[in-house]
Amino acid sequence: MSEFRLIREYFSDIGADRVDVALGVGDDCALLQIPAGNRLAVSIDTLVSGVHFSPETDPQNLGHKALAVGLSDLAAMGAEPAWATLALTLPAADPLWLRAFSAGFANLAVEQGVSLVGGDMTRGPLSISVQVHGFVPLGQELRRRGAHPGDLIFVSGTLGDAGLALHHLQRSRPLSPNLRLALERPNPRVELGLALRGLASAVIDLSDGLVSDLGHILEASGVAADLFLQDLPLSPEVADYVAATDDWYIPLTSGDDYELCFTLPPQRISDMGRVAKQLKDCPLRVVGRIGYGKELRCFLPNGRFWKPLQGGFDHFPS
Ligand code: ADP
Ligand code: MG
Repeated sequence: MSEFRLIREYFSDIGADRVDVALGVGDDCALLQIPAGNRLAVSIDTLVSGVHFSPETDPQNLGHKALAVGLSDLAAMGAEPAWATLALTLPAADPLWLRAFSAGFANLAVEQGVSLVGGDMTRGPLSISVQVHGFVPLGQELRRRGAHPGDLIFVSGTLGDAGLALHHLQRSRPLSPNLRLALERPNPRVELGLALRGLASAVIDLSDGLVSDLGHILEASGVAADLFLQDLPLSPEVADYVAATDDWYIPLTSGDDYELCFTLPPQRISDMGRVAKQLKDCPLRVVGRIGYGKELRCFLPNGRFWKPLQGGFDHFPS
């Protein structure tokens, strides 16, 4: 099948129909309309076979995840998802693989109102880049900077499930359905991101682990934090693992959680409570507090400090 037939077959008319797409897939460029009074939020992520996922990964899950990681960035900015572009490098044009990949991508795109407006196809080692585009009303963007001493630190969902899944896979152990879903089909917290506009003082999405990502909020905001590990939201599997091994690295540093971490001024707690009740399937937990200084202090359940030997995952460690 030619490149053009592949595009027509698997990547045309993917996702939501949007009136702001004047021209989508098929020409040299897409033509897109940004609504007045908004800024465009843009983010790109690449998933490389053998680095970010195993070549055996279910292609439908991979299509989902390739879009989900970008939508998680938009969520962390308080942006409403609108468009995506997809650059695919494939070793071969396997129709079964392509159909499943495109279905996984399309299902999430439709669910989140995203239109696939363009992309690129090349031959080579399997690699997937997705750029996402969303809208934020002027001045309402959620940044990493803005946390103040006294603010509460929240995280959504549970931490460490994807990390524990990877830990098991690396040891050739079977995965429970829950852990596999956490690793392969993360659900971007778009609804939460939108709800945090005007409420949160700083937001980040958790891609590299809480210690590393909260560290970015602290650095950008010029503040310190105390984190209480007994308050971390853990699934029963991760809680059992930590209880058995005393290994806090999985929930704190393993990454791929795609939850949101945000800080909230104490005077906004009641507003936050009202907002939280409207969210579907989005548990929120207070895990610590912002303070003066620049250190991140993690308190174990016994009151002692927990000191990480390493931060989050770094592709280019020094
Ligand atoms: P050009 O050579 O001008 O860059 P291409 O032949 O690469 O254009 O692509 C033709 C059209 O198909 C363009 O509109 C491009 O955005 C779109 N496209 C190419 N690959 C993909 C893909 N993987 N997903 C979605 N659209 C794609
Ligand atoms: Mg061209």
